[in-house]
Amino acid sequence: MNSEENRATLELLAKEAAECTRCRLHEGRTNVVFGSGNPEADLMFIGEGPGQHEDEQGLPFVGRSGELLSSLLEANGLARSDVYIANVVKCRPPGNRDPRPDEIDECKGYLADQIRLVDPAVVITLGNFSTKLLLKTETGITRMRGQAYPWWNRYVVPTFHPAAALRGRAQVVEQMQADIALALSVVGEREPEQTELF
Ligand code: URA
Repeated sequence: MNSEENRATLELLAKEAAECTRCRLHEGRTNVVFGSGNPEADLMFIGEGPGQHEDEQGLPFVGRSGELLSSLLEANGLARSDVYIANVVKCRPPGNRDPRPDEIDECKGYLADQIRLVDPAVVITLGNFSTKLLLKTETGITRMRGQAYPWWNRYVVPTFHPAAALRGRAQVVEQMQADIALALSVVGEREPEQTELF
């Protein structure tokens, strides 16, 4: 597929997701938060799931976590429009609870399609949910971060969720900066072609 076809397919998928009733999360949502940014990005960020502001606006990372993510991008010379941003689940879990395994299972096909279509060189997983889903690990983010893991013809670089940085420790922001810098340093390296994700 060329880039125009990719873009059109992503838009079609977003329309399909906007009507999705595959799990209970559709009952409480205002908007499906499919994803945003450059559909041909080298870097793709994957969070957990929409919060209140994201649910209201239909866009990922537009609340306080989003502000922090934007400032981390800027510090690395990147704008939001340079990267693609998505979440593990596309609808807000009530009261911002964690997404449940069955909700993740129902939703993960959308994320797999987004990764295939955007085809980023590096996926940065923000926090435990996206890291565990992609890397099929039970190891927590504190131990996983700081490394680039070869994954289906690209790399996954896990880092903290921005909400962890908002909870206080300055060291978390520094580590997130270092992880984004690591991701940028491996953008040019790709593993041999493979097709299936998870
Ligand atoms: N937290 C997430 O994981 N995703 C968002 O889009 C916003 C906050």
